[in-house]
Amino acid sequence: MFIRSSNPLRRRSRAITILGMTALAVVVFLSLTGYVVFRNTENLLAARDSVQHSQEVLYNLQTITLQLEQINEHAHLYLLTRDSDQLRMAEDTAASLNGTLLHLQELVDDNPSQTRHVHDLLATYNDLQRAVAASASGSAGRLEEELVLSRRTVSVMRQEENDLFAQRTRNSQKRNISSIAARILMVAVSLITVLVLFGFLLRDALYRKRSEEQMQETNARLALTVEALERKARESTLLTEARDELALCQSSLQAQECAARYLERLLPATSGAVCIINNSRQMVELAAIWQTPQNLLDGFSLDSCCGLRSGRARWRKPPASEVHCGHFTGDSPEIYLCLPLAAHGDTLGVVYVECRTPGVAAMVEAHITPLQELVELASISIASLNLRSRLENQSIRDGLTGMFNRRFMEIALERELRRADRHQKSTAIMMLDVDHFKQFNDTFGHEAGDMVLREVAETMHKFVRSDDTVCRYGGEEFVIILPEASVDTVHERAEVLRRLVGDTTLRYRGQALRQITISIGIALYPYHADSMEMLLRAADRALYEAKHKGRNRVILASSNIYA
Ligand code: GH3
Ligand code: MG
Ligand code: MG
Repeated sequence: MFIRSSNPLRRRSRAITILGMTALAVVVFLSLTGYVVFRNTENLLAARDSVQHSQEVLYNLQTITLQLEQINEHAHLYLLTRDSDQLRMAEDTAASLNGTLLHLQELVDDNPSQTRHVHDLLATYNDLQRAVAASASGSAGRLEEELVLSRRTVSVMRQEENDLFAQRTRNSQKRNISSIAARILMVAVSLITVLVLFGFLLRDALYRKRSEEQMQETNARLALTVEALERKARESTLLTEARDELALCQSSLQAQECAARYLERLLPATSGAVCIINNSRQMVELAAIWQTPQNLLDGFSLDSCCGLRSGRARWRKPPASEVHCGHFTGDSPEIYLCLPLAAHGDTLGVVYVECRTPGVAAMVEAHITPLQELVELASISIASLNLRSRLENQSIRDGLTGMFNRRFMEIALERELRRADRHQKSTAIMMLDVDHFKQFNDTFGHEAGDMVLREVAETMHKFVRSDDTVCRYGGEEFVIILPEASVDTVHERAEVLRRLVGDTTLRYRGQALRQITISIGIALYPYHADSMEMLLRAADRALYEAKHKGRNRVILASSNIYA
């Protein structure tokens, strides 16, 4: 199987080798062709010269024939007329004939046969000259004979030279044809060579062009990849920052505001809001916004948001989707996105992103993955903070009465005592216990007992000021912390509370319960104790004393306990 070399460098060096070899072959071929043409031209010139030479010989033979005729003519005229001029002209022509013969001898020097004939003619010429001289005495017989002899030799020579001329002409024509063929061949081969070289160069140019195009494509792809990587890195940094910042939030509201800040950074040129479903789960309220969303309602029902109804991200973007959400006053914006905030299977709210132009919407779509990740991070953070708040409530509150529990009371009391120290003020506590509470349980059951506890707790809630802290200390015992209160005021207020509880009438399953009474022990920091434990113990002792003295009364801790 033929496998093409895929290495561009190897292919390129092979092309250079082929090009070099071709160029060398062209130089050799052109040199050879030049030599052949040179030789051909030389031969052609030689052939032409030999033809011209034959023509000159023939011309000379023609001249000799003419001179022989003239000698014959003048000699006969002399014999007829005895005109001495005719004799002299015959002699002169004979003398010219000698010159012509000598010239002819030079011309046919390279031809042995013709040279021999010329020698014959020269030999005949001497006899002819003598015959011309003899004709002066009236004898023309010799002259006739010599002339016939010379004519015959000239005729033989002409015949030979004519044959030679014809052969030389044919040779010349042949050489002409071969010279033309050689030139045509040279031109054709040169043309083919030029075409081959041009083909190589063209192939190389095309290959280079394709390589450049491929390189440009690769560069463009590389630039896109680098840009995408940079964008991903920026998004990743932003998401990491958002995750760290959300982890620092201590309340759900903080997390919502943090999410809005990072959404604005991720999606510049947009406006929007983080909307949260309220506790009653009837309304969605604006928790945090960025820029200024156009005509977005402050609070709206869950049904009015298409994103919340569908439970997934939903674009309102004509012509793909025309249906508007119902959470606007007046005109609704053209393009917006609603992304439900959901975590652990619970829908918390919706992130609303408004895009003023299709270009901004395209930018948001390009960032949809990090946007969804950010919304997910925010959802998890908000859900966790909600859960933490619920758990905290559960851990510091008593489930039956909704009051703070003993653990929280201790923390709060410790804090209050430190504040009292700082401000040189006092802090009072009341320790309360429902009298004979067990009897409610025993007579009407545990549920009735719970009802009594809730009722007493409710009364206490109504009674205390905002600065006071009411706690269930355990069972049917309660503690109220009253910052900055004087002994008299606390005593007075304890009496009021005792009477308030005593005035409460309760019915359980149609039956009227007996009167509820409470005993209260009061202790003040720093008058009765110098620590939280001591203060609680002092109040407890006062309560014990109240019980001992017949219940339904208020007793102030004795000052000697501190002593
Ligand atoms: P005293 O006047 O001396 O305080 O008598 P008492 O009956 O109120 O006090 P005691 O300590 O004898 O009884 C307290 C009872 O309260 C015992 C316990 O079963 C009951 N109790 C404690 N916590 C709860 C509660 O959450 N619900 C109900 N129904 N009863 C409780
Ligand atoms: Mg008790
Ligand atoms: Mg009791």
